Amino acid sequence: MTPSSGPNRPDAGWTFDNSYARLPETLYVRLNPVPVRAPKLVVFNTPLARSLGLNPEALQGDEGAAVFAGNKIPEGAEPLAQAYAGHQFGYFTMLGDGRAILLGEQVTPTHDRVDIQFKGSGKTPFSRNGDGRAAIGPMLREHIISEALHALGIPTTRSLAVVTTGEPVFRETTLQGAILTRTAASHIRVGTFQYAAARDNPDALRTLADYTIRRHFPDLAAAGNSYLALLQAVMERQASLVARWLLVGFIHGVMNTDNMAIGGETIDYGPCAFMDAYDPDTVFSSIDQNGRYAYGRQPQIAQWNLARFAETLLPLIHEDQQKAVSLATEAVSGFPDTFRHFWRAGMRAKLGLSNQEADDGALVEDLLDGMQRHGADFTNTFRDLAAGALPEASVFQASDFKAWFERWQARLKRQPDSREASRQLMNTHNPAIIPRNHRVEEALAAATERADFSVMEKLLGVLSHPYQDPPEEAGYHLPAPPSAEPYRTFCGT
Ligand code: AMP
Ligand code: MG
Repeated sequence: MTPSSGPNRPDAGWTFDNSYARLPETLYVRLNPVPVRAPKLVVFNTPLARSLGLNPEALQGDEGAAVFAGNKIPEGAEPLAQAYAGHQFGYFTMLGDGRAILLGEQVTPTHDRVDIQFKGSGKTPFSRNGDGRAAIGPMLREHIISEALHALGIPTTRSLAVVTTGEPVFRETTLQGAILTRTAASHIRVGTFQYAAARDNPDALRTLADYTIRRHFPDLAAAGNSYLALLQAVMERQASLVARWLLVGFIHGVMNTDNMAIGGETIDYGPCAFMDAYDPDTVFSSIDQNGRYAYGRQPQIAQWNLARFAETLLPLIHEDQQKAVSLATEAVSGFPDTFRHFWRAGMRAKLGLSNQEADDGALVEDLLDGMQRHGADFTNTFRDLAAGALPEASVFQASDFKAWFERWQARLKRQPDSREASRQLMNTHNPAIIPRNHRVEEALAAATERADFSVMEKLLGVLSHPYQDPPEEAGYHLPAPPSAEPYRTFCGT
């Protein structure tokens, strides 16, 4: 393996500083990605590359293909697979990066530390029965949906590049292999703490907790009980994150504890999808038979996961176990109120409300009940409401919806803001564009079946400004045409 910058090539701009590789070795295994036969760069995220301090010119074409396939290790990288555990659908398992490799941490021009990780880069000691590989469809899907969340202003890992490997992967059918390069504030998960706790390694656990505080919550280092403060801070970030998912109709789909990032970013885009018609029971994932991860259950699940996180921290929170349990329980039980706070604030903005009234909660609940009864499209209802007049859509012609609309209009008049100000508030909190499932499928079909990436490029362009609404993009508002089969998503292994 050679460094990425040669004598005649512009410097790619890698500035790795690999703090995770300096942690206790129980937390990872050092190894290189497994090289692939014929890498081809099919996606390169130029704006993201620039923000990381990378030089797009140096990373296009063959050079980028070799680097983002793992065939050529960039200078300063120290590749490793992270160890972690996790509750998957409620059952505890020792896991780890079975098909991912952390290259290291790129230090950006603004001094942020960003993980650069490959997904689909070959077997590791954590691969269990898996092949360590990924197929092109799910990697492009992660690219599209994570970029959509980013454009919506929701904290998320991002996607820097996708390469095809020139090798087949075998699932139900034979598919093209691909590798996604993911960037993240870190890949420390609830499951990382569960791993250290399960290994019964108090030193590693404490080192991991101190490291996490330094990396994500530096202000807490000076707190009286910094580990309790860590729990509280992680709880608040998750409450905020899950509220933001719900406010745009996002369903993560596989909120296992290994898929919950301590830094508060959305991570692990497998069976996720956006809801069309409002229904809290909406589930898309083919493996979520019991609706554990349904749209409306996401806050409860986040709290359940936080309780698992809290359990790992008990020995650090207090030496007296009883006291530790009572402190941790109190922190985790604050989740519903904290979540509600973020959710209510977000809903008020979605309805154009700038001040608070006691009945606002009921106003929101009654709207949602009506939407559910009439099968109203979640995204378009709010956008239509922002337009002001009673929307044309037939659901608004129902008498219960009309009554609600009058109530809301009266409520708007009781605040000092102009109609224009509340319209603006609504139009910056209610996206016109979300990645509609049929649009995502259409883009993936073109790319994977015909090597035509133009449909995806067009979709990505539209998704990059979700709150704008140019008339020529009106076709992207529409929910999927009615179909005999409900939409189903897969974990993407
Ligand atoms: P996920 O459902 O993507 O969160 O993955 C759960 C666990 O399975 C993680 O430890 C992954 O690394 C592992 N995994 C998923 N797919 C594969 C694969 N094709 N080969 C090896 N490990 C995999
Ligand atoms: Mg995962």
